[in-house]
Amino acid sequence: MILKYDESKCVECGFCHRVCPVTVSIYDEPIKKTAIGTPEEMGMESDKKIVVDTEKCIWCGSCSWICPGYTLELIINDEKRIPLVENGSLPEFKEQVRELEDGKKIRKVVDGSIKITCEENDKKILESFANECATGALSPGKGEIKVDEDLCILCYKCSEAAKKYGKIDVKVFRDRFMEVRGEPASVWNAISERVLGKAGKIKGIISRSQNKLADAVMRLMGKEEEELT
Ligand code: SF4
Ligand code: SF4
Ligand code: SF4
Repeated sequence: MILKYDESKCVECGFCHRVCPVTVSIYDEPIKKTAIGTPEEMGMESDKKIVVDTEKCIWCGSCSWICPGYTLELIINDEKRIPLVENGSLPEFKEQVRELEDGKKIRKVVDGSIKITCEENDKKILESFANECATGALSPGKGEIKVDEDLCILCYKCSEAAKKYGKIDVKVFRDRFMEVRGEPASVWNAISERVLGKAGKIKGIISRSQNKLADAVMRLMGKEEEELT
């Protein structure tokens, strides 16, 4: 099995990190580390935007299922596959594709809203902040940051970046997934909670074997943990 990653398409939106059912070493945050994320999130040395911990990965394909940039592909026996969609555990999205200025295709996977509060007037700082956006949805105005809501994929990249800018604050509200086809299995609820940012505090999880969501996903794929170690 291979998880192919095309970095040229990656918009660093972080959805893969949030959807991954593997949870490693969580103490006081909803999600601290999964099997995929930025090198910083994963505590790994790399010059890539996104890295995978192949020792922890359970090859479920959830990250390629959600990836808004069509960046990830799970290859099993030379075929592109998403086992959790094939067995009906996850639904397929009704595609909501947008084309970015550089020609990249991106799709919206969640619906909701974004609120930007701006007290910054410095043009250079406003421009620099607008450039933090994953999709080019932000542009600087006069003492404000404008959002093209049609292009915004509600990815938290700008809300994280805003922490470095004293006079700009961003709140992203993910209300629901975009329309999907089919009836998903119960694992969907847990995955929804993670992606929509509604996961509660989970304490004391220190290994994959204690991770109920990853275990549930493996059962849905008809696998036991021993097969993957
Ligand atoms: S979900 Fe896709 S586009 Fe977003 S950070 Fe992960 S690999 Fe990159
Ligand atoms: S294939 Fe599944 S376990 Fe592996 S990184 Fe992607 S979401 Fe995580
Ligand atoms: S405006 Fe913010 S939340 Fe929307 S796509 Fe850009 S970085 Fe992501």
